[in-house]
Amino acid sequence: MTEPLKIKGIVVNSAQWGDNDKMLTLLTKEKGVISVAAKGVKSIKNKNSQGVMPLCYSDFVLNDRGEAYSLVSADLIESFYKLREDVTSLAYGVYFAQLAAFTVGRNNYAEDELRLLLNTLYLLCKDPSRCDTLKCVFEVKICEYAGFAPYVDSCACGSDGEYFDISTGEVVCSLHRTPTSKQMSPGARAVCQYVQNAELKEALGFDTPAAIARELSEIIEAFMTRQLGRLPKGLEYINKII
Ligand SMILES: [Zn+2]
Repeated sequence: MTEPLKIKGIVVNSAQWGDNDKMLTLLTKEKGVISVAAKGVKSIKNKNSQGVMPLCYSDFVLNDRGEAYSLVSADLIESFYKLREDVTSLAYGVYFAQLAAFTVGRNNYAEDELRLLLNTLYLLCKDPSRCDTLKCVFEVKICEYAGFAPYVDSCACGSDGEYFDISTGEVVCSLHRTPTSKQMSPGARAVCQYVQNAELKEALGFDTPAAIARELSEIIEAFMTRQLGRLPKGLEYINKII
């Protein structure tokens, strides 16, 4: 029998599985997204029940069962409990976790995505009113980590890009716009540029008016949809409640 795997991870999804069990989806640095069968954790008396709650970051010990891992233990490191006190914050937190897991996939090294997710959730707990800014920063950074960073410096002809082409991921001027180009304000372009060039902590600490953040998010989401085929379900829920 192989040695149990010790790994830190955040619970990005927790699905019902049997009467007392859950099937967990974890995002980890070393193995990307993994599935873990967690027996008995629905009972609050179970010693692992706290560490397997959605959006909890925990120290896991797992047995490798081929298709999925099985849970030996989960020791809570950070619960981000404040997210569970507010439905809007929770919706943003769930979406961030889903988007990170969605872009990482299985058996991929995910250091950048995990760091981005943990830092963003920490800041969201600290100040939920920054949710729109955190969302646009998260989305721009996740595109960069996934290998399809938007290019917003200028149109290929050298003119200012007043539009963003969601099929190519590049800004274009009014002369070179195409049917898939969306208008992009100078403010949204500047924020995107800043976020791409800044260190993660600076980018996440930067504040921008909600209207600009939402405009940038809308453009990046359209671009990500072209790149990824679809976006996680959590985004639909956010768009319903804001
Ligand atoms: Zn041009």
